[in-house]
Amino acid sequence: MSKETTVKFKKMALIGIGLIGSSIARAARQKNLVSEIVCSARTHDTRRVALELGIVDHAYERAADAVAGADLIILCTPVGTYGALAKEIQPHLEPGALVTDVGSVKQMVVEAIEPFIPEGVDFVAGHPIAGTEKSGPAAGFAELFEKRWCILTPSEKSTEAGIEKLSDFWRGMGSSVENMDAKHHDLVLAITSHIPHLVAYNIVGTADDLQEVTQSEVIKYSAGGFRDFTRLAASDPTMWRDVFLNNKDAVLEMLGRFSEDLTALQRAIRWGDGDALFQMFSRTRAIRRQIIDAGQETAEADFGRTAHVEDQSD
Ligand code: NAP
Repeated sequence: MSKETTVKFKKMALIGIGLIGSSIARAARQKNLVSEIVCSARTHDTRRVALELGIVDHAYERAADAVAGADLIILCTPVGTYGALAKEIQPHLEPGALVTDVGSVKQMVVEAIEPFIPEGVDFVAGHPIAGTEKSGPAAGFAELFEKRWCILTPSEKSTEAGIEKLSDFWRGMGSSVENMDAKHHDLVLAITSHIPHLVAYNIVGTADDLQEVTQSEVIKYSAGGFRDFTRLAASDPTMWRDVFLNNKDAVLEMLGRFSEDLTALQRAIRWGDGDALFQMFSRTRAIRRQIIDAGQETAEADFGRTAHVEDQSD
């Protein structure tokens, strides 16, 4: 899936260094894609951990300080922060620099960042489809993007050269790259990532509300399926709040369809329509096989026992 990369950036500035930013730092260093890596993070603790881990050469409090002299700038904070950060770094971006991001939503992100991209600076929005439910710089690992997709959503301020350079960068980290319209990205991700997280948050919340009735049984018997939802529902609350606030239309559209289908299942159960249930469950089983065949999951039962429990969060 990966191929030899030809581009090497002089200085990469990561704005925010949590799970995704720190995984990029590790992978880019391991694959020798950049010469110098700096980051900015608002809290002292995050800067200290990033420096102690040895994944960055310098850590700044202000994003504006990190981007000085950088030829690759990657926004790796929750998507709701992008507009303010783009405004802050604008006067410090150097001609020829390439700005990108890793946000899980794309249309709002493009609208938030693009107005602050100066003449002579390239902007190509991006989204690596890889993640875990963990947060912070210590949670990252260099292999996170291996054999995963990275979606780029080029816009008005993207040049062909910028798209190619960024594609090369992600391929260098082991990903496959696909270009997509931002609006289409948001619809696809609404059903493949955002709704699954919403369902997980909801089911775990409902179970929590039931705790008075069932006491510790929810935890004790969680291996029955509930446990698999709890992993998604443990994902970062700030990141996911921002995803839902910034992908409102697509999520509501998909949620409408989801609710209709749920009502159909409810009806089938109520009327004892076993054929309808069987047909539906057979269809979904085939989807799981397709995901395994596409190399996006392994068939082994893992039961949460592996070291890096990877999901395809979004
Ligand atoms: P994370 O581990 O929680 O790290 C977030 C980083 O952003 C930290 O450095 C944090 O700084 C900083 N930050 C948080 N709030 C901020 C604010 N208001 N202003 C400035 N900086 C702030 O998150 P992550 O999982 O790496 O996610 C980062 C981005 O990647 C998000 O846009 C998300 O949509 C996208 N993404 C996530 C996944 C996933 O599965 N996690 C997958 C693909 C894409 P402090 O530590 O100093 O607070």
